[in-house]
Parts: sequence; structure tokens; C-alpha cells
Amino acid sequence: AEELVRKSELLSVIGQMAAGVAHEIRNPLTSLKGFVQLLRAHSGGKDEYYRIMLSELDRIEFIISEFLVLAKPQVVFQRKREMQPLLEQIVMIADTHAIMYNVQILTSYADNLPAIVCEENQLKQVFLNLLKNAVEAMPNGGVVTVSASVEDGMMLIAFTDQGCGIAEEQLLKLGEPFFTTKPNGTGLGLMVSYKIIANHGGTISVCSKEETGTTFEIRLPVR
Ligand code: ADP
Ligand code: MG
Repeated sequence: AEELVRKSELLSVIGQMAAGVAHEIRNPLTSLKGFVQLLRAHSGGKDEYYRIMLSELDRIEFIISEFLVLAKPQVVFQRKREMQPLLEQIVMIADTHAIMYNVQILTSYADNLPAIVCEENQLKQVFLNLLKNAVEAMPNGGVVTVSASVEDGMMLIAFTDQGCGIAEEQLLKLGEPFFTTKPNGTGLGLMVSYKIIANHGGTISVCSKEETGTTFEIRLPVR
């Protein structure tokens, strides 16, 4: 337990620093991108190098934006939001991604789901991260199930896939910055998702079996 506390304190200090650096990098990065776009427009058709530079700059920008979430102080939640329309939106966005993987996304929502006091865009980001991971875990296709219900006074949102699963020694690394097993992964999606759900007073738990599949469960307080 002591080790866990130490680790979480260390992560929060690292997170604050990373977010501070991210903030400082954002402005020069925006200006750099603008000038590369300008150069590209004047490149007279030979724009391959510029295209690569822009896509690399986009990647840096994406990583920076993930880290900036860590800098957000405890968010002030003012709005109660229905979860079902929110999930439906995200499923629609993820569907285009899923089709490429031959993955079908099924949904199951309980009746009379309560509204949740939350930061809508942040929850959307979490749902999308988990859904993308589920799809990416199934290169040979399959079914991902998204469900929402109420259990023990908590909103329970679950993402279940039939994918590769997660090895036991890797379960401990989930949520660590830069932990990824994907060639083009950032290893930031889960870190940011854990942080956002913790800020909402909720939890994320994982249940996984190799070669069988994985379930991520989000629990959010209903107030
Ligand atoms: P990324 O997707 O960029 O790799 P994430 O933080 O989203 O970063 O995920 C970290 C790692 O956790 C992934 O690379 C993968 O190894 C593992 N992982 C996350 N979700 C799943 C899942 N549903 N099935 C199998 N592995 C997963
Ligand atoms: Mg991911």
C-alpha cells in the first residue's frame, strides 16, 4: 500500500510537470505548424517532406493535448448529463474505426438511467479511448459490447471485447504514461482516462483473459 501511495504521488508530480511543459510547448508548436503549412503551399508540388513534417507535428500536438488534461485542476462540474446519448455519439464516431477492423459494436442500455454530474467532453474522451482500445485489440474482427446500467447506486459503464486480452504482468502497467504494446501507440489514453474518472469520483477496473478478451468497467457516482 505504501508503495502504491508513493507511486501515485510520484505520478502526480510527474503529471503536473509534464502538463506544465506541455503548456509551454503548445504555442511555439502552433507557430511552427503554421509556417510549415505556409512552406507547403509554396512548395510547387514537391510537398512530401512537408506532409511528413505536418503529420509528425500533429502527433506531437496530440501527445501535448493528452498531457494538458493532467494540468486541469479539479474540474467544476455544473451540468447533469444523460449518459446514453453521450455513449451513442461516441459509438457512432468509433464505428468508422471499427469497420476497418471488421468489428461490430453492440450496445445495451438499461431503462431510466440517471443523469450524471460531469464534464461531458472529458467523459467522451474516456469512452472513445476505451472503445478504440477494444477495437484495436481485435485485428481479426469480432464484437465489442458497450453497456450502461446502475449497480449499487453507481452508474456502471462497461466495454467488453473479444480481443487479445492483457497479460497478467502488463495489467499493473495499465495507466502508466507511455506504456503501450502498439507500434504506433502513445500509451497515454489510459493514463488520461484514469485521471478523468478519478476526478469525477469514479473508478475504472479491468478484467482480462489472454486470447479471450477484456472488460473495462467505469463506475461513476450518481448524485
Ligand atoms: P495505446 O492505445 O496508445 O497503446 P493506451 O493507454 O490506450 O495506449 O493503452 C495502453 C496499452 O494497454 C495498450 O497498448 C494495450 O497493450 C493495453 N490495452 C488497453 N486496452 C486494451 C484492450 N481492450 N485489450 C487489450 N489490451 C489493451
Ligand atoms: Mg489507446
